[in-house]
Order: sequence, then C-alpha cells, then structure tokens
Amino acid sequence: MPIREPINIVPIATSRSLRIPILTGGVDARAPVDTRGRRLRDLRISVTDRCNFRCTYCMPKEVFDANYDFLPHAELLTFEEIVRVAKISHELGVEKIRLTGGEPLLRRGIERLIEMLATSLPGVDLTLTTNGSALKAKAQSLKDAGLKRVTVSLDSLDDATFRAMNDVDFPVAKVLDAIDAAAAAGLGPIKINMVVKRGVNDHQIVDMARHFKGSGHIVRFIEFMDVGATNGWRMDDVIASAEVVRRIGVEFPLVVADANYQGEVAERWRYVGGGGEIGVISSVTQAFCATCTRARLSTDGQIFTCLFAEKGFDIKSLLRNGDKKGADSMIRDALAAIWQHRADGYSEIRTARSHDEAKARKVEMSFIGG
Ligand code: SAM
Ligand code: SF4
Ligand code: SF4
Repeated sequence: MPIREPINIVPIATSRSLRIPILTGGVDARAPVDTRGRRLRDLRISVTDRCNFRCTYCMPKEVFDANYDFLPHAELLTFEEIVRVAKISHELGVEKIRLTGGEPLLRRGIERLIEMLATSLPGVDLTLTTNGSALKAKAQSLKDAGLKRVTVSLDSLDDATFRAMNDVDFPVAKVLDAIDAAAAAGLGPIKINMVVKRGVNDHQIVDMARHFKGSGHIVRFIEFMDVGATNGWRMDDVIASAEVVRRIGVEFPLVVADANYQGEVAERWRYVGGGGEIGVISSVTQAFCATCTRARLSTDGQIFTCLFAEKGFDIKSLLRNGDKKGADSMIRDALAAIWQHRADGYSEIRTARSHDEAKARKVEMSFIGG
C-alpha cells in the first residue's frame, strides 16, 4: 500500500456543503483511518429522496407535502457517477454497499444500477433496504441483476397500525407477500426492520417476534431516532432495546449471540431451543459510534460521514468538473481526506446537546439514506 504525500484538492464549500479537507501526508491513502481509528467499510447510497410512504417518523406528511421541493432529476447522481464513487470507495476499503433512500425501488432502472455495481464490484456485499411496496414485482429481476440480500421495513403486523404508520394507507398484507416473493427469489435471509415507537406500535413487538420466529428471517427492532429535523422526536417515545429483549424474553427465552463481524450495528439474540434470532439496534440508548465504519452518499452526490451530520461534502462537483482521466485519483484523495478528518460520534454526545440545537441543523434521513 503506497504512502502518499500531501496533495492539493480544490476546496469546495457552499452554504450547503463542507470544504473538502486536505489529505495529510504520512498516511496510507488507500486504507484511510479516521481520527478515532475507524476504517471505512460500508457505503450507503441514497438513490432517490422520494418515497411513496409518509412514515410518521421519517417523512411526516405535514412537511413532505405537495409543496415539498424534492431534488430535480439533474441534481441526482447518474448511475455512472454512483458506480464511479462506489468503485473508488471500494479501493479505500468499502466491502458493503447498501442502496437506500427514500424508496430505492422508485428509482427508474434500479436493476441496471444493481447490475452495473455487481459487475464492477463482484466481491462487494450488495444489499438494499426497501419499504416492500414494489418488491413483489421486482424481487426476481433484482436478484437476477446481482442483488445479494434485501432488508424490508415493516413496523407492524396489525393492518390498522401499519397503515397509520406509513400514513398512505398501505396494507400490511402486500408487504408480507413481498417478503415471501423476495425469499422465493433467493434474496434471503431477509432482515425485517421495525422502528419501535412507544404507544404507537410497541404492542406489536412480541407479535412480530412470534410471527417470524422459525421463518429464517431476522426481525431487527430499531430504537426510534432523532434523525432529521421534522419527525418530532422525543426521548419519551423511545423504547430501549433492553426493554424489547425483556418483553420478547418473557414469552421466548433469548440468549445473546456473538456479532457476525466487528462493528455490526445490531446486537444479536438467539431463541433458546431454536427458531432463529432477532436483532436490536440501540442507536439511542447504547451508541455504537466507536465502531462505526459507515459513510453515506446522498442522492445529490454529497458524502456524509454520520447519519446525524449537519452538512456533507460535495463530491458531485468533483465528479462533474475536471477531466475524467485524472479525476479518479483526485476523488479518491478527496474521499480519503474526508474520512481521515472524520471525528463523528453524534449518538455518544446526543444527550449533551440540546435537542433544539440539533434539530435546527440535521439533514433528513430520506435524503442521505437510512
Ligand atoms: N424506504 C426504505 C425503507 O423504508 O426501508 C429505505 C429508506 S429508510 C430511510 C431506511 C430505514 O430507516 C428504514 O428501515 C426505516 O424504518 C428507518 N428509519 C427511518 N426513520 C427512522 C427513525 N426516525 N428512527 C429509526 N429508524 C428510522
Ligand atoms: Fe419512505 Fe422508508 Fe422513510 Fe418510510 S422510512 S417514509 S418508507 S423512506
Ligand atoms: Fe456512526 Fe454517526 Fe451513528 Fe455514531 S451517530 S454510529 S458516528 S452514524
């Protein structure tokens, strides 16, 4: 691995983006380590900021209404640009890529992007997170294009609760059908994400566990997070993962399982006596920033080094300016420098900040990808 000297990158900063830092010398620019010793391993790519759901905790209807300014098409990264960033990120250490959004299956031609990524980066673990609304029809074509696995979001088995949470009256039966179709297409084991909100769907915790126990799918209970600035987050609405494990454990005894790999976000719990496992994601009550190896590429081509970042780094300008030939190394150095300067740990310091202060500045999850 080469040791690089300091280089100069044209600094870009607008009111919406951060100035790209300069790579400091004496470091391995092909495997950058951030200020806390964390490597870059995962890239989440938001392929659209649009969604056909209005989950109350993510894109509340009152904000994401008919007047909401979604990105114009020209602002979106093209598939070629996305693949270019993915390839360069892979050179820097990225082993896992997750396509997300917004609702990624709404991006026209998503199968073509998957095929391009799968062909250019055969060794990369390529996955996608979806609300499941268009998954039944697309499951086989996604698999054929090279997608390895899929994560489906599902907040309740109770139809009325589910319809109220997605806030567009989408029936739960269609998502359950989509999960079956994805499994039949070979996109399993399927992870099922349930965001738990007190008084809204916490009565469904044990039902969800019971329903998917023994199915081969893994339900992951996610603590409701204060992402973005519009979801009206309050700590009182959070059900701690410890409480989720306790409630399920009353009916189905659980034992903690080892992580699959260092830095795994979900804590794994196995059913005693078989039936598979569940996961809990405790971003609020047990921050996992110390092992966070994720970068996010927003729909409009900015790199965010934290889900709770206030601004990103404008990579699109680098992609669109300058000659293609020499530019890959410039982009690689820019990404390495951004990672090298990273010090994020929002979840660790969340409680030290006033919520109003944080609320005023964070970007929406649908824009940078959950
Ligand atoms: N639309 C797709 C979906 O819903 O699966 C992908 C994008 S969505 C932003 C990615 C994940 O983030 C989903 O599993 C969703 O439930 C989760 N999410 C969104 N807002 C959240 C919040 N405030 N707290 C915790 N998880 C959240
Ligand atoms: Fe859409 Fe996913 Fe956000 Fe729900 S969580 S509004 S499905 S992007
Ligand atoms: Fe990673 Fe930021 Fe989440 Fe901490 S708060 S785990 S640094 S994305």
